[in-house]
Amino acid sequence: MDRGEILGLYEWAIGVCFRCATANTATTHLGEIDPPAGDHYDIRACEKCLVELEEERRRYAERTGREYTPGQLGRCEL
Ligand SMILES: [Zn+2]
Repeated sequence: MDRGEILGLYEWAIGVCFRCATANTATTHLGEIDPPAGDHYDIRACEKCLVELEEERRRYAERTGREYTPGQLGRCEL
């Protein structure tokens, strides 16, 4: 699966990347932090970081003998 196919599995909107702090870039929603006291915080990742996170998941799955399915970030434990 190439980069374009992986990116196509997610929905994109302009936002700030939680990982590299790039703002006003295409980001996808991965999760949220909603502390009882404090600001609601959306966790979003840019295209570059999303691809890197997917690559990490793929390598982790290979190491541990698990099945890797792309497109699952934000839909299960990171
Ligand atoms: Zn990023």
